[in-house]
Amino acid sequence: MAKKGLIILFIISIVFLIFGFYVNFFSRRIYFNNFTSDEQTEVFKKYKPKKISVCYGTKYNCKKINYKLKGSVNEKKLGTYTLTYIANYKDVSVTKRKKVKVVDTKKPNLNVEGIFTNVCPNGKNDYVKITADDLYDGDLTDKVKYKIKDNKIIYKVSDSSGNTTKKTFEVNIMDNEKPQLILNDENIIYLSVGSKFIEPGYVAIDNCDGNITEEVKVSGEVDTTKPGTYEITYTVKDEFANETSVKRTVKVFPKNSYKPGILSNKTIYLTFDDGPGAHTARLLDILKNYNVKATFFVTGYNNNYNDLLKRENDEGHTVALHSYTHNYGLIYQSIDAYMEDLLRIQDKVRQYTGVTSTIIRFPGGSSNTISRKYRTRIMTDLTKKVEEIGFRYFDWTILSGDAGNTTDPNKIIQNVTSAVKENETNVVLMHDIKSYTVDSVEKIIQYGLSNGYTFAPLTMESPVVHQHVNN
Ligand SMILES: [Zn+2]
Repeated sequence: MAKKGLIILFIISIVFLIFGFYVNFFSRRIYFNNFTSDEQTEVFKKYKPKKISVCYGTKYNCKKINYKLKGSVNEKKLGTYTLTYIANYKDVSVTKRKKVKVVDTKKPNLNVEGIFTNVCPNGKNDYVKITADDLYDGDLTDKVKYKIKDNKIIYKVSDSSGNTTKKTFEVNIMDNEKPQLILNDENIIYLSVGSKFIEPGYVAIDNCDGNITEEVKVSGEVDTTKPGTYEITYTVKDEFANETSVKRTVKVFPKNSYKPGILSNKTIYLTFDDGPGAHTARLLDILKNYNVKATFFVTGYNNNYNDLLKRENDEGHTVALHSYTHNYGLIYQSIDAYMEDLLRIQDKVRQYTGVTSTIIRFPGGSSNTISRKYRTRIMTDLTKKVEEIGFRYFDWTILSGDAGNTTDPNKIIQNVTSAVKENETNVVLMHDIKSYTVDSVEKIIQYGLSNGYTFAPLTMESPVVHQHVNN
């Protein structure tokens, strides 16, 4: 039985073979010759479909026929396009499809020019100019990547089709520049005892590593409960271990410790002439903040700030007498004229403060020569006269410069801080009607307090400061 089955299977096979052979060689149909269903073409290159021919008949007797071609290829754009070939003969129709892929196989251009000595460890090199472009993608400069391997730097760029160009250069890997470490705010910070120290911050920039602010280490502590000088150290290292270190000094100073009747050998008398004025209230706020007591030699002609006379007195300052009119021509023409003006300002001060002040400062000081224009020897007479009737006049020992041509607060600060001395009667001439003077006061106070000085108001008991009388 098995043998019979095999024979039947053999016969069937033979029949199929003969049938296949017949179909292949003798049946009539449409043939596409030379046809490929997949093609590739380079972008921007004119595309021509491969030549084919179409015929109808058998393999041995085939008659050429026409065909239609539908579809097109955009050679300027990457992608896959389909072309459709249709051939008709009698009532037989055959359609074939061809896929045409527009590809970019060209590598991009990579240009690297410059100097390769001392390349940063991370490859950053400011002395090299890199450009890259691609026929299809255009500018690829932003896509250039690099890596450091051994003593080589490898630049690499790929286009959107994955074509890659590499360039390798021998380099000396080196960072010999220290990072820059810049402190925000001042390098010396003054703090009143009991206040809070808030780190003003810093910025660290390295030539190779860029912003490395986060790598900065801060050491040193500030105890704002204790007066003293504290140091904070800021250190930063770049990846090549170049180190930069900077210091900030924090001076914690005590509040002003002036007590009436007790004189220190380090005393500063801040005196303000010609006010009160537009900046006096701000000045009083600053003084109050540091518990600093000062002396105001006031004038009487500006009634807009009369209430500040009271405030000056209430806050522990000395309200002293300068002049009601501050008019040289008027007050220096006679003793009587001067006395009339003096009593007028004394009256006004009494009216607002309840205090009868006997502390005075002559307009222009006792050494002024301008008064000669109005009466000779008037200063000689006045300085005697006022003392006889119980007044006390004060000149100054330190010029802040604000009555001259100094309008820069920093210059005023420098003038004053460089002049104050231990064991001297430091009477500073300033003017509270000038904004730049008021701007300078806080720093002067900070300097004084952190250097052990006490700020005191002038009183009848204060050491007298008299200049030479010149008229
Ligand atoms: Zn004056």
